Amino acid sequence: MDAFVYSPNPGRVVFGTGTVKQLPDEISRLNISAPLLLSTVRQIGHAEALKEVLNGKIAGIFSDATMHTPTDITDRALQYAKDQGADSVVSIGGGSTIGLGKAISVRTGLPHICIPTTYAGSEMTPILGETAGGVKKTRSDPNILPGTVIYDVDLTMTLPAAMSATSGVNAIAHAVEALYARNTNPIINILAIEGTKALASSLPEIVENPSSPSARVKALYGAWLCGTCLGSVGMSIHHKLCHTLGGSFNLPHAETHTAVLPHAISYNAPKIPEAMKRLTEALPESNGDAIHGLNVLLSRLKVKRGLKDFGMKEEDIDKAADIAVSNPYWNPREIERAPIRELIRRAWAGEPAR
Ligand code: NAD
Repeated sequence: MDAFVYSPNPGRVVFGTGTVKQLPDEISRLNISAPLLLSTVRQIGHAEALKEVLNGKIAGIFSDATMHTPTDITDRALQYAKDQGADSVVSIGGGSTIGLGKAISVRTGLPHICIPTTYAGSEMTPILGETAGGVKKTRSDPNILPGTVIYDVDLTMTLPAAMSATSGVNAIAHAVEALYARNTNPIINILAIEGTKALASSLPEIVENPSSPSARVKALYGAWLCGTCLGSVGMSIHHKLCHTLGGSFNLPHAETHTAVLPHAISYNAPKIPEAMKRLTEALPESNGDAIHGLNVLLSRLKVKRGLKDFGMKEEDIDKAADIAVSNPYWNPREIERAPIRELIRRAWAGEPAR
């Protein structure tokens, strides 16, 4: 085994079903008493339910969390937190709401408790993407990492089947890129394989029966492990491309990850034989071929495969290829324009990866 560095992120995790009832204990543990609850408008019901769990002892509810963490919304939330005398933030929702919690916490030092309700994994990372003046910038800082995460399987029951599928593939993408990260290590490899196995085996069941408790437990467990991968090692072509495509052409986050992943893996495949072998073991029905396994999984999940289905125009393919090669970053295979353009074209058209 080669020498390696493993640097785990500190953080407390409470995992299970009905665990949201432990929020009062977690609040006492931190010696805080006036949390500001954060949600999207769509999930205000989840925030109201939290208020009940806390017997109404909250600073308030701010329900305007928005995709890509716009800084004007953060400014409003900060003012509200100050006016209400909040001494902490509790974010309940997906990556968008957790992003707002991180943005408030890193600016104020207030403790942040996360209650994730999708599989995106932001709760496990010290990374924050924020949008100002239409430009999204991402930074990493240990102070961004939430201190406490409560995973409650019950809260994922309302995540619609289609969103569960794409959110789950978004999580698998973190694990896949962790397998071939420049700073990967044996511990992260174990988490990546375990997380991929858990999601790949539970997501098809969720699509057929979204209220299956056993499949929901497995998927959330997998999402946690995959989120840990994202927060621990560097990501490359897949995440960089999705960031470019999402930011430049306003494409939806999880759906973009789902359309791009098989093509990104296929691009890197010649340079990552060991990761491909491991991935084959993690994907059921792969028959010794990880790309085939992923194609089968995506067809079982009945997801849309083409970026054109989300409004990307054919003429954007060249623009995306130009942006993708203009920002150098580490990737196992050199970033070359012609094959990158073909990767993007295939993802745009929704062709199966080869
Ligand atoms: P999201 O948070 O935008 O949620 C999408 C919609 O689904 C929202 O309206 C939300 O309220 C709703 N929703 C969430 N959970 C639900 C549930 N259980 N039941 C019903 N509705 C529910 O989606 P996402 O994919 O979780 O997050 C995407 C955002 O997170 C992007 O901006 C992305 O860049 C960011 N992200 C950041 C990181 C990081 O490490 N910084 C990691 C992953 C994603």
